[in-house]
Amino acid sequence: AWAALGRANSGDVGARAHFVFVPLMFQGHFIPSVDTALMVATHGAVATVVVTASYAARVRRTVDLAAPGQPGASPVDVRVVALPLDCAAAGLLADGSDDIDRIPLGIGPNYFRALSRLREPLERRLRAAGAPYPTCIVSDFCLPWTQELAASLGVPRVCFFSMCAFYLLCQHYVDRDNALDGVVGDDVEVIVPGMGDKRLVVTRAQAPGFFRLTGWDGYGDAVERALDTADGIVMNTFTEMEPEFVAAYAAARGKKVWTIGPVSLYHRHTMSLAARGRTADIDADECIQWLDSKEPNSVVYVSFGSIAHTADPEQVVELALGLEASGRPFIWMVKSAELYGETVREFLRELEARVAGRGLLIRGWAPQVLILSHVAVGGFVTHCGWNSILEAIAAGLPVVTWPRFSDQYLNQKMAVEVLGIGVSVGIVEEGKDIVVGRTVVEKAIGSILDGGEEGEKRRKRARALAEKARTTVQEGGSSRDNLFDFVQSFRGE
Ligand code: UDP
Repeated sequence: AWAALGRANSGDVGARAHFVFVPLMFQGHFIPSVDTALMVATHGAVATVVVTASYAARVRRTVDLAAPGQPGASPVDVRVVALPLDCAAAGLLADGSDDIDRIPLGIGPNYFRALSRLREPLERRLRAAGAPYPTCIVSDFCLPWTQELAASLGVPRVCFFSMCAFYLLCQHYVDRDNALDGVVGDDVEVIVPGMGDKRLVVTRAQAPGFFRLTGWDGYGDAVERALDTADGIVMNTFTEMEPEFVAAYAAARGKKVWTIGPVSLYHRHTMSLAARGRTADIDADECIQWLDSKEPNSVVYVSFGSIAHTADPEQVVELALGLEASGRPFIWMVKSAELYGETVREFLRELEARVAGRGLLIRGWAPQVLILSHVAVGGFVTHCGWNSILEAIAAGLPVVTWPRFSDQYLNQKMAVEVLGIGVSVGIVEEGKDIVVGRTVVEKAIGSILDGGEEGEKRRKRARALAEKARTTVQEGGSSRDNLFDFVQSFRGE
């Protein structure tokens, strides 16, 4: 599908281009980066993805499954540069693994500092004879050292965001106008400046900015400087969904913004969909068979993404009992069993026995986009990671919003207040230790799957957005055009 897409796309607009992607290896950043690398490669460019050692196999697997070598199709050229990370300095596990999925919490400044020391070995690799010289560095906004890398190589650097323009704009306005200066308390609401007649309020806890906590020693300033001097911005969102925010963000930053999402839509077949990020802990066919046995729009999918987790035993129990009481079929991505004590593990086993056939628990990694795109799924209980929200939108699904940290609080506002496709469980900021009760869970699920007239309106809006998402990645759509323009802009001489 990839190669076919490439041929239909553009011929060889990117023939001389070499895009070097440097993702942050958190799944919510890494997955859309690899997808974007695949996308530029379909335009005939060479794409190199730079990772630490244990991620190399994941990139190769995603690339291989995305481009299954159809007869006569030219394979896409995605290469991998794997660099050894100083895991001890990074504060990772004692066993020397650089796989940060194995450390659910506690990735701190040392990890980011250890990554920044990859700059010199990476520059040597990119200058090595035999490899095409880079024409553009596309790196995560969290990696400010890549701006220096690009400057040293004498090539442009584009900043990659797996976030929506709405969130970035709100955060930018709050920072630029010091809207929270002098505000005492993390939960005091202020109006986001510059949003015109969209009266939008935030608290410090909802818009904490990037890397501003103690211990980061100026890292946040370095991130801001690197963004300020970048040669443009690539974003996993689409203009038809949030035109005014994309335009306002580009204007406020004084930069070209290429919106190229939803990147998940560039995967067209089961194997490719099931291979994003990690190997799923359920067989794709088994998952599809389970879904095939359910009525259309009847199943609710529950996931808190790759970082957040519901380790609090009381919360796990309330969520579980809410799902049980809802009477709906559900798939719940419960993450690794090791996160829980034996009592919770036993409770989950008993739950599974009670809801056998109706509830499916996936421990570890779920093939999320494969699940969301199945007709049996009717709604998504999400922690509001931007990729998850966008994947729900691409699938035309209403969401129950349950944010946990970072941009997720403003993403919740985007889903509920701006797009009108979400119902909140009532968590508005981090650090309150609120346990969401079973009846709240049950009611929220009922609202998105059924929910009377309001529910119908939400579903209609979600479906209309999905239609826009589908057309934006096709001929004449803005994401498709932007991708083409992006490749053309940095194809070198
Ligand atoms: N994901 C997945 N399976 C899982 C959990 C997550 O495929 O079991 C994918 C999901 O589809 C999304 C990404 O991982 O593309 C998570 O990104 P998001 O921004 O939603 O949340 P984060 O994990 O960064 O908090």
